[in-house]
Amino acid sequence: MPIGEFELIERYLSRLGAHRDDVLLGIGDDAALLRPPPGIELASAIDTIVEGVHFPVGMPAADIGHRVLAVNLSDMAAMGAEPAWALLTLTLPVADEAWLRDFATGLHDLARRHGTALVGGDTTAGPLMATVAITGFVPPGQALRRSGARPGDEIWVSGTPGDAAAGLAVLQGKLDGPDAILEPLRQRFLRPEPRVGLGLCLRSMASACIDVSDGLVGDLGKLCESSGVGAELDSTLLPRSSAMRGAVDPEAARRFTLAGGDDYELLFTLPPGSDTGLLQRGGGVAVTRIGVIAAAAGIAVDGEPAGRELVHGFDHFR
Ligand code: ADP
Ligand code: MG
Repeated sequence: MPIGEFELIERYLSRLGAHRDDVLLGIGDDAALLRPPPGIELASAIDTIVEGVHFPVGMPAADIGHRVLAVNLSDMAAMGAEPAWALLTLTLPVADEAWLRDFATGLHDLARRHGTALVGGDTTAGPLMATVAITGFVPPGQALRRSGARPGDEIWVSGTPGDAAAGLAVLQGKLDGPDAILEPLRQRFLRPEPRVGLGLCLRSMASACIDVSDGLVGDLGKLCESSGVGAELDSTLLPRSSAMRGAVDPEAARRFTLAGGDDYELLFTLPPGSDTGLLQRGGGVAVTRIGVIAAAAGIAVDGEPAGRELVHGFDHFR
């Protein structure tokens, strides 16, 4: 007999993530009861992932569980928020217990690492998709925003953007080569690592911040628009992983790095003269300076205005 909705929630979803004392009542009642620390600001975000749109059909369940939380933790990172509570809506074509166990494990492991508790959700039948709504804490006035970049600020990025898009190309059979080179790229797509620690470090330093989900140039464009500025990127400064260098020619690497999506790295601006040693030590991931904020609108790469193919990394309605 197929497992019922109530049993499924109780067995696989009811104890996921970190245990937190500020969860007064978790899963099992009509709503969760939560107690935020006094005086704190709450950062709130929600993101949905749909099979065939945000991840390929047949992707392992543990990777889907990881991903739906990772994309939300990345939004917390971009705001400089400390993640706390998550809600999960799961839409499933069938109640497959092995799938659910793996999904729960992927979500649980990442949630625990970031001190996040799953406090409730909703479960329905339908095409495979998952939504997480997340809440995090920020000390008053300290949240990072997209809107604070000023001309002369340095532009920095974490990690090696482009790897995830190359990894997706590998999964889709569009890129081949030796497994030792392709596997790290595949992992960068399947297991994005939200830069929560770096986001917390940036609170006292960055003038603006965004996470790179749709492509570096496209997301830099959003930051610049919010800030009322432009940007000049130097492609010779772009960080490249050894896997990327081994897998494709420099021209393809440049395209993946500037326009590829799904990296969930942080793109941020620092006033000139900031002490970046602090970031290199405290954020847990390498950061690289890639350009400078300009007064005039628009994004230039190596002195040339960025073309459409670089700007529109990924847009659902285009
Ligand atoms: P109601 O019908 O009152 O909304 P549900 O039967 O939908 O209650 O949910 C029962 C409990 O299980 C609630 O605490 C709800 O938050 C939790 N829950 C349901 N689905 C999920 C899920 N996918 N993940 C986490 N918690 C869930
Ligand atoms: Mg419900």
